[in-house]
Amino acid sequence: MRTLIIGAGIAGLAAARRLLELGVDPDDLRIVDKGRGVGGRMASRRIKTPAGVARFDHGAQFFTTRGEVFSDTVAEAVAAGAVVEWTRGFETEPDGHPRWRGSAGMTSLCKWLAAEAGLEPLLGYRIVDVSAELAVHPADAVIHTAPVPQALATMAFGGLLPDPALAQQLSEIHYKPTITVLLAPSIDPTGMADHGGAQYIDHPDLAFVTDNRAKGISPVPAVTIHLSNERSIELWNATDEDVLVHALAAAADVLEGAGDRAALVGHQVQRWRYAGPVDIHPDATVVWGNDPIVALAGEAFAGPKVEGAFMSGRTAAEAITGR
Ligand SMILES: Cc1cc2nc3c(=O)[nH]c(=O)nc-3n(C[C@H](O)[C@H](O)[C@H](O)COP(=O)(O)OP(=O)(O)OC[C@H]3O[C@@H](n4cnc5c(N)ncnc54)[C@H](O)[C@@H]3O)c2cc1C
Repeated sequence: MRTLIIGAGIAGLAAARRLLELGVDPDDLRIVDKGRGVGGRMASRRIKTPAGVARFDHGAQFFTTRGEVFSDTVAEAVAAGAVVEWTRGFETEPDGHPRWRGSAGMTSLCKWLAAEAGLEPLLGYRIVDVSAELAVHPADAVIHTAPVPQALATMAFGGLLPDPALAQQLSEIHYKPTITVLLAPSIDPTGMADHGGAQYIDHPDLAFVTDNRAKGISPVPAVTIHLSNERSIELWNATDEDVLVHALAAAADVLEGAGDRAALVGHQVQRWRYAGPVDIHPDATVVWGNDPIVALAGEAFAGPKVEGAFMSGRTAAEAITGR
């Protein structure tokens, strides 16, 4: 069975690994991603500064493990040095549940998932029209892990969409946006807990602030600010400078001196249009068609977050081989 996997985020890599476990020939597996590296929303970035290279996690900041399958995989990644425990909670009274991070940034887990299984995704390769792609590189099955609206758009041209009832269900999966501000200050923030993470629930402006040096991934000061979904929607079309000024003011109490605009040695503003699904599809994957078989996977299925995306990818692999 020749399979095309679109996306080398955690869902696509989990799907590929599961296909190999189920006996699919590695030569029959084609994984493509439009990004420059693997990881998707488990993304890491760098900004050059006079003091050195500032490193940031700019999508997911951490992940948790609940089920046995993902826990076992993460335990292997820990043993291999790709994942380390960050903290056991962000509150003053930690809840004791481990929060994991990639050892050199969140992409470390995905890099390890690919390397350990001998997977070499084709990077910088964007699928615009799945049918046109299959005309050039035929496949019996497609596992699509892009955010659902984007996945459907690439299948509309060639008539690969599911039946109207399923198409209607899928069109009801909506996403919330997040604006992320990366700061390279000349000094570290001084108002944060020692682990360097601050999680905000129901804060009008903020969702998360990370001191990436305290977290252990940056050798020089580097701060990630995720704005709340509400504020991200409001500031979506604002200029980067306005977003920056807003983020610095909102996080002033944890940044302290590091929030001085004039003393920043670098910054970037990133807009995640599809940061996370508002509504989750009840099934871990959806599958339709015969030629090719199409499966959708990713965090919109099986539950948001990293573990849900991982499990959805595996389930999609099992579903297409089951067919
Ligand atoms: C700002 C932010 C904060 C988050 N915080 C957390 C957190 O703290 N904890 C947590 O557990 N989760 C968090 N998440 C969610 C977590 O990142 C996701 O659940 C998970 O990474 C999704 O994985 P995925 O494989 O489903 O999708 P993705 O990681 O998005 O992978 C999909 C891949 O498909 C590729 N692709 C898309 N379209 C095409 C195309 N047409 N052609 C080729 N390639 C394509 C993309 O480049 C991408 O690499 C956060 C996400 C964001 C954005």
